[in-house]
Amino acid sequence: MSKQASNIDNQIRIGRFAPSPTGGLHFGSLIAAVASYLCARKNPQSQWYLRIEDVDTQRKQKGASSAIIQTLEAYGFAWDGEIFYQSERTDYYQAALDAISKHVYACSCTRKDLQSLSSDMTYGYNYPGLCRNGQLNKDVKRPSIRVKTNNQEICFQDECQKEPFCQNIEHDIGDFILKRRGGLFAYQLAVLVDDHLQGINHVVRGADLFDNTPRQIFLQKLLGYQTPAYLHFPVATTNDGKKLSKQNHSPELNATSTNAKIQQLLKAMKFLGQTDANQDDFSNLQDFWQWAISNWDADAIPKVKTIVYQQN
Ligand SMILES: [Zn+2]
Repeated sequence: MSKQASNIDNQIRIGRFAPSPTGGLHFGSLIAAVASYLCARKNPQSQWYLRIEDVDTQRKQKGASSAIIQTLEAYGFAWDGEIFYQSERTDYYQAALDAISKHVYACSCTRKDLQSLSSDMTYGYNYPGLCRNGQLNKDVKRPSIRVKTNNQEICFQDECQKEPFCQNIEHDIGDFILKRRGGLFAYQLAVLVDDHLQGINHVVRGADLFDNTPRQIFLQKLLGYQTPAYLHFPVATTNDGKKLSKQNHSPELNATSTNAKIQQLLKAMKFLGQTDANQDDFSNLQDFWQWAISNWDADAIPKVKTIVYQQN
């Protein structure tokens, strides 16, 4: 029996899954894939795209993109259209930056400059606008590019997290980086341009990115883009509160049997607060996905930011 679709699930969604190829997929990324996939697949008219977020070419691991794609296929995920690779899209990011050239400025500050000038500030999180009226060090060849923030509060209501969230970006973050020193585009800009050009109207991602959202809404307004709906599901953490990741030895997904894959997918469903089932109920992945789509209920996702997950 399938559940009645909630308001969240009824709408036509253009969603995406956007892993960074810093390693293979692990359980934390499976949760993200399942949540974004089912939010889209609940409505047959919705779409789900796959985007490889390899804008940070320095962190990219060789072979990781194809490993991610193979794993997704092996677990029965089916995406719409072509796969987007951020590393191939820098012209679009530059065009977006050019479009808001009046609102950005070059910043030559090094970590050291910021530390010595503002000893009580954490670099990268609270930039005090030192270069707003000209670079501190004019000799820097490829300075970073920051966007001028303002004193307005930006609020949004998430579809999962209960409380509305507001941020005064100028005060809480400061002018943030859109292009890094040396020329790499920052995640904040790339993600936004891609979401816009792919027509994404539903961003489903882990709550570790929850407090990035006002910055992205700020940029959307500046660029004249629509703001999508946001759903931030809880992220799985270790006992000491660290997000499951390659860095803290979360094992890569490597199930080979259908049974083992279904077992892991069921664990992801359970983590997301969904109806439980027995893996023996499904003879193949297609059966599993049919069941998962008809039983998916976005309202049932726990309305918290983190959940400790015992890896075994
Ligand atoms: Zn600066």
